[in-house]
Amino acid sequence: MEEITLVWLKRDLRLRDHAPLKGAIERGLPILLVYVAEPSLLQADQSDNRHWRFVWEGLCDLNQSLAPVGTKVLTLYSEVLAALQTIQRHVRIRYLYSHQETGIRLTYERDKAVTVYCREQGISWCEWPQQGVQRGRKNRSGWSEQWDTFMNQPLEDPDWKRATFLNPDRLDFLRDLFWQQPPAPNPAGMQQGGEKKAQRYLRSFLEGRVRDYSRHISKPEASRRSCSRLSPYLAWGNLSVRQVFQATETLRKSGVHAGQIRNFQSRLRWHCHFIQKFEMEPRMELAPINTGFSDYGYDKNPVLLEAWKQGTTGLPLVDACMRCLTATGYLNFRMRAMLVSFLTHQLNLDWREGAAHLARLFLDFEPGIHYPQLQMQAGVTGINQVRIYNPIKQSREQDPEGLFIKKWVPELADIPFPHFHEPWKMSPIEQQFYRFKPGETYPLPVVDPELASKKARDAIWKAQSLPQVKADAKRILAKHTLAKRWR
Ligand SMILES: Cc1cc2nc3c(=O)[nH]c(=O)nc-3n(C[C@H](O)[C@H](O)[C@H](O)COP(=O)(O)OP(=O)(O)OC[C@H]3O[C@@H](n4cnc5c(N)ncnc54)[C@H](O)[C@@H]3O)c2cc1C
Repeated sequence: MEEITLVWLKRDLRLRDHAPLKGAIERGLPILLVYVAEPSLLQADQSDNRHWRFVWEGLCDLNQSLAPVGTKVLTLYSEVLAALQTIQRHVRIRYLYSHQETGIRLTYERDKAVTVYCREQGISWCEWPQQGVQRGRKNRSGWSEQWDTFMNQPLEDPDWKRATFLNPDRLDFLRDLFWQQPPAPNPAGMQQGGEKKAQRYLRSFLEGRVRDYSRHISKPEASRRSCSRLSPYLAWGNLSVRQVFQATETLRKSGVHAGQIRNFQSRLRWHCHFIQKFEMEPRMELAPINTGFSDYGYDKNPVLLEAWKQGTTGLPLVDACMRCLTATGYLNFRMRAMLVSFLTHQLNLDWREGAAHLARLFLDFEPGIHYPQLQMQAGVTGINQVRIYNPIKQSREQDPEGLFIKKWVPELADIPFPHFHEPWKMSPIEQQFYRFKPGETYPLPVVDPELASKKARDAIWKAQSLPQVKADAKRILAKHTLAKRWR
């Protein structure tokens, strides 16, 4: 039976800086490129159509680019083991090449099953790191230096001239497994997937948008232009962190926007830092990293939770953020942090109750960033300074003219400054003048943010001083902290 190298594409949908592709070409056997859309993953709590549409667009883009070399990505709708078993009945998979994945429990369990299958079948499975995340680490000693080395190494660009592919005509036996049904198109305001789109975002950022990066980073409206917007492309692998890092290095060394670039580069490092944390402690998907917070006294309140999810809390900036995220899949860092702060501190609801909802809405859902960030903003790590964002203060500071609020909460479109920040405080005469009925035109706030923040602050500070929280904080510091240089 013909022997092949199967390149299993996962969250790495690009043709450049791709070590498994490069390795497969160097191996010399005919190559089969496969992407498997797994029903179990498509139906996971964290999954949304928007993700799979983005992936689909990325695959279409790859196939366009691959046409000149006479191949395409075989795109299957199947569980991975079933797909491998079917392929293996018709050709012999000698090598399985892929990137390492720091994923949710479901993909971790799937990878364990694939390991067993490969061992039984004599398939040699090689996995390459795809960012500065290092597998098997016990602590962070030397992590930062290794990250620097990795980011400065030459890109792993495949030599396509040497590639040979399994003849696609031989794949008819897989017809029943083809992923035939494209996910429904995403709304117009959502970013589209694909390596070419990713390159365009990178170029437009470095050629101009970067200018106001630091100044606009926390502003919900201006950040949409001045931040890179590369996150979905990095999360689904249309770009590697190394490609982005090296592109920014060229600019930094030329001295153009050097300060902005340094600020941006520190985020690229954070990207890998958080994924490293999750790689070393994947139970963070389901439980607080600090075991002292396991029994933190959260409330159960489905009505409040639903108001948060629907963007009907009566706090204008909170609602604008949630509605914008639902419609566009994107929100800047500060507003994401505020949404989690509001959920966990002011509403006193468990971060786990909002985790899957936000994962579904973030077009850039990256488990290794998502869960550690959620826990950090919820204040359950015991090692980070707890920030409780006051949504009214944020509203006044980050959206002073209400451009963002009025766009996403049209009920407030005609309410002038400064009332749209706290519409419930309008006098009866003002309410009549602006035809605004509190609780009817727009909900009354579900909590008093000042009072709720004070209560949350007291509770979380009390928890921080619990012996178990302190003891586990020491363990976390020893395992996960880095050199001061980049903090
Ligand atoms: C609760 C919460 C959940 C989050 N979940 C995700 C997620 O699932 N996927 C995701 O990519 N980011 C997540 N972030 C981090 C951050 O908000 C986004 O990376 C950023 O807003 C993306 O916009 P950008 O690409 O324009 O960022 P830029 O500011 O242009 O940054 C460039 C890249 O650096 C990385 N980055 C930036 N900020 C951070 C950060 N604080 N931590 C880690 N990496 C960062 C991202 O890869 C980003 O694309 C989360 C933040 C919070 C508070």
